[in-house]
Amino acid sequence: MDVALRMDTDNKKSGSDTHAYLAPLFLGTAGENSDAFERALLAVVREHIDWRRNFHPEDPPSISVADQHQPTFAVAIERTEHALRDLSARLKRSAPMFSPRYVGHMASDLLLPGLLAYLATTLYNPNNVSAETAPVTADLEIEVGQQLARMCGFNTDPACGPAAYGHLTSGGTVANYEALWLHRAIRFWPLALAQALADDAQIMSIIAKATADAACESWRLVNLDLDAIVKLYTRVNEVLAQRADTDLLRARIAAQRFERLGAVDFLGRHGIATPIVICPRTAHYSWPKAMQLLGLGDGQLWYADVDAHMRISPAAVGKLLDRAWRARVPVLAVVAVLGTTEFGTIDPVHELVALRKVCAARGQAFALHVDAAWGGYLATLFRNADGTPIPHEQVRSRFRYFPSSRVYRAFTSLGRADSVTVDPHKLGYLPYGAGAFVGRDRRMTEFVGQRPVYIYDEANICDEGNRAPACGRLAQLGDYILEGSKSGAAAAAAYVSHQVLPLDAEHFGRICGHTIRATEYLFEQLQATSVRMAGSCTIVMPVEPDTNLVCIGVNPSGNRSLARMNRFARALFRHFALDAARPQACEFIGSHTSVLRKNLSAAAARRMARKLRFDPDSFVLTASDPALEADHLFLLRHTLMNPWLSNDGESGNFVGRYCEFLERAIARTLADEW
Ligand SMILES: *Cc1c(COP(=O)(O)O)cnc(C)c1O
Repeated sequence: MDVALRMDTDNKKSGSDTHAYLAPLFLGTAGENSDAFERALLAVVREHIDWRRNFHPEDPPSISVADQHQPTFAVAIERTEHALRDLSARLKRSAPMFSPRYVGHMASDLLLPGLLAYLATTLYNPNNVSAETAPVTADLEIEVGQQLARMCGFNTDPACGPAAYGHLTSGGTVANYEALWLHRAIRFWPLALAQALADDAQIMSIIAKATADAACESWRLVNLDLDAIVKLYTRVNEVLAQRADTDLLRARIAAQRFERLGAVDFLGRHGIATPIVICPRTAHYSWPKAMQLLGLGDGQLWYADVDAHMRISPAAVGKLLDRAWRARVPVLAVVAVLGTTEFGTIDPVHELVALRKVCAARGQAFALHVDAAWGGYLATLFRNADGTPIPHEQVRSRFRYFPSSRVYRAFTSLGRADSVTVDPHKLGYLPYGAGAFVGRDRRMTEFVGQRPVYIYDEANICDEGNRAPACGRLAQLGDYILEGSKSGAAAAAAYVSHQVLPLDAEHFGRICGHTIRATEYLFEQLQATSVRMAGSCTIVMPVEPDTNLVCIGVNPSGNRSLARMNRFARALFRHFALDAARPQACEFIGSHTSVLRKNLSAAAARRMARKLRFDPDSFVLTASDPALEADHLFLLRHTLMNPWLSNDGESGNFVGRYCEFLERAIARTLADEW
């Protein structure tokens, strides 16, 4: 990695070192790096024009000088300029996400290498739906998928067992849809096989062996795990390839698949209940949407309780799995969240891995999907450049509190999941349109491929040493993913960004580490603020941060009513809301969240009431009058991903300034009517 910015990270480095490391990587709050940016952009535009000119230079020009001197020409140019000026004026009302004063949603300034690559590639406008429409960037996308898979801890070397794959999506939402679509196709395939070839003694004996059940009962078939299904699939295809009527037999299987028959017909034929998915109560709202979209119904999304730290409770998942097992309901997937959208908390992936083993012993199978849309890139903190995990103590030595042993184990167990969602357009600091899906076995794609695998004759995958020409079947993205036409610019952006900052602790991890340290600093500063303000209010983080997202609750002294506290917090939030008409007037921009009582256990609700000093009885499951606001807890929510937030280096102590502003905003709100 000669282009990589290498720096020694062995010991705790001073803040200014990190600052120096980050300084060339972003445009800067006042565009300090604009010279370098403009230079690079101009070079990119010139390169592109060169490219055009060198493609059949003998062709006559499409636009002549005479054309350019037509009066209508100047009018059109002027109209374009005018429209762009108008757009610019409007865009200035955007959320100023580049600024360390923006601590709202999951957005920040962008990494320059990725941004430049994105802009450069847009000029060429490749469509990553297929290798034909994106001869360059489809390969880059597959390579990015490999990088993300390695970041998660998956094997990517086919010589060492099942090799992972990954690709970009428009965002985490679509990656989550894909996870369920894919796992459903895989899970139900053995049922289709047994139905289609029930009269084929050889195939049936292969199935009987795979299920250890001579009767090939549906309940057994629907409870094969991913490895067993892939093995069965491979074996059956080997056998079918030897038959004279291969195509006919394959068509018979296809005719029995869920994807062909639809839910009612398929499940009815097999006497199988609609499968369920288990996720934590903190899950992103893309999960119920996924269930609706797949026709499974969001009622089949079973929510597992979370503990007081807003992490999924493995015991609660265990109970739901027991219930499904007793009722003979197939479990399509269990979803863990690595970095919840509201609190940044980390579900114990390792405990769900253990649970999967326990269930396997009784014959119950499910896919384990980790929704790491937010927290995925934090995995770089735990990885050496060679891919080996960094020992817990060594990771810890770089922080005050992070990572707890549960958080450490969750991250280092990521590679045990079956699939993962991760968003390069969140903590990857890349422009939007870059989510990603990672699956632990490339053969998973064959279950959703729209064209039969055997029409692709090349090798299945590119390896680092052997990247040209195309990456074979995997580069035909549109064949096995949900989306069609898609930007190649997103893939180029991720590729270039990862080239400059490889996904390990020494490189990309330095940015992540910086944001965690900023959060730890805020945690401490807020305690100091809370002591200073003790006479007038209680300020706490009701959920201790696992990562770099925090929620803050404020209760005026003496107030015991949650509804009243919520009214106060809403009034306080007005000081943190973006005023798009006058963005300069905003000192800090935050976001907010509401923790619903129904998503908390009684113990967790009491704990929050104790911390914020309101009466636990004023926190009710369903408010008789919605205006009473007593069924939820309104909190300020802050994402701390901006590279210039921390007190490190010369960039100004924005965390400290935030706390001062919070103090003033509280004082003003207290003085106001609320
Ligand atoms: C952001 C997020 C999503 C959705 O991702 P998009 O890129 O916004 O579509 C899903 N899950 C979690 C945990 C997230 O934080």
